Amino acid sequence: MSITLLCGTLIDGTGREPTDNTALRVEDGLITAIDTATPFSPGTTQVIDLRRWTVLPGLIDAHDHLCFDWTDPKDLLSREPDTWSILRGAANCRRILHAGITTLRVMGEKNHLDLQLRHAVSTGLVEGPDLLVSGKSLTTAGGVQSWFPDNEVDGVAEIREHIRRQANAGADLIKMFATGSTATRAVDPLAPCFSHDEIVAAVDESRRLGLPLAAHCHGGPAARDLVEAGAYSIEHGAWLTDDVLEQMAGRGVYLVLTSGYAHVVADHAAATDLQRERCRHMIQAYRRTTMRARELGVAIGIGTDENHAGLAIEMRNLRGAGYSPMQSIQAATAWNARICKVDAQTGSLEVGKRADVIAVDGDPLADVDAITRVRFVMRRGTVYRHEM
Ligand SMILES: [Zn+2]
Repeated sequence: MSITLLCGTLIDGTGREPTDNTALRVEDGLITAIDTATPFSPGTTQVIDLRRWTVLPGLIDAHDHLCFDWTDPKDLLSREPDTWSILRGAANCRRILHAGITTLRVMGEKNHLDLQLRHAVSTGLVEGPDLLVSGKSLTTAGGVQSWFPDNEVDGVAEIREHIRRQANAGADLIKMFATGSTATRAVDPLAPCFSHDEIVAAVDESRRLGLPLAAHCHGGPAARDLVEAGAYSIEHGAWLTDDVLEQMAGRGVYLVLTSGYAHVVADHAAATDLQRERCRHMIQAYRRTTMRARELGVAIGIGTDENHAGLAIEMRNLRGAGYSPMQSIQAATAWNARICKVDAQTGSLEVGKRADVIAVDGDPLADVDAITRVRFVMRRGTVYRHEM
């Protein structure tokens, strides 16, 4: 039996103006009709009335991790048994889905737990968003995020071998830690981790295997190496300079902004003084980079990066940097779908696409926090949350 969703206000994710009194018909997990009338005849379709709320495409998070939270000490990852880590990942999957995120790019987990979670979600064992996974990320010996077991690679040969192993395991993309980070004690976030030749090899090998290379990179020399080598996306990018942003715009390299992480850490009692201090600097840097990315025409997306489900902060930051409220919604839907390479299937409410649909209480164009008041979640035509 089909499902008909009666929508009051509908924002479809394409950037078009909202429409009123629309009905969506859902069959076999797909949207099969969108009508201004009510395309249903009683008895042949299940009707769900969402007219009190604003209907949107399921949200997409282009950068998160599942098996740990930002408050966790990172060495926990090597101390904690995988069985416990994956339980936490499963719990986060459910929480994230119920917050309206129906697709998510997983940007680094240990021991291929992300591949197992992807399988658990796709087979219905665990409730969660559709996952795109990066497998074991690449870092240098003793380098950034080297707390993940078995992800240290040095030299061109090891890099190529590691990427081949991720492709063989079934990763959807490759994740590389190309610079320092604010999460790592005493590492300059602009210091490059890999040599020029290593970056060129990583991009080349990923491309040969048909996998996008997403690089954790805050700026500095590694940013130029990545962009010139043809990396798929720069993740974070707080201190990217204008010349690199211009090159990114010209070459179509995506920028996935994750500034919400810095906002949360800067305000949180559990953070160390050093973390808070770094994050305050980072917030300023992100503000500038986001404005310049917009002005220079860089294609952007947004990710919550351990601040699970916190897309509202990212959307608020985009609005603060001059993106329109509608564009901030597109960033969380259609733009992120393009970065995840799933824009033919989801990210907007159009006939033929997946029935990934949410409803929120309020108008997210006027009030970004409306996006946090999720009342209904459908993923691939299955209802996971429906408040009356
Ligand atoms: Zn991350």
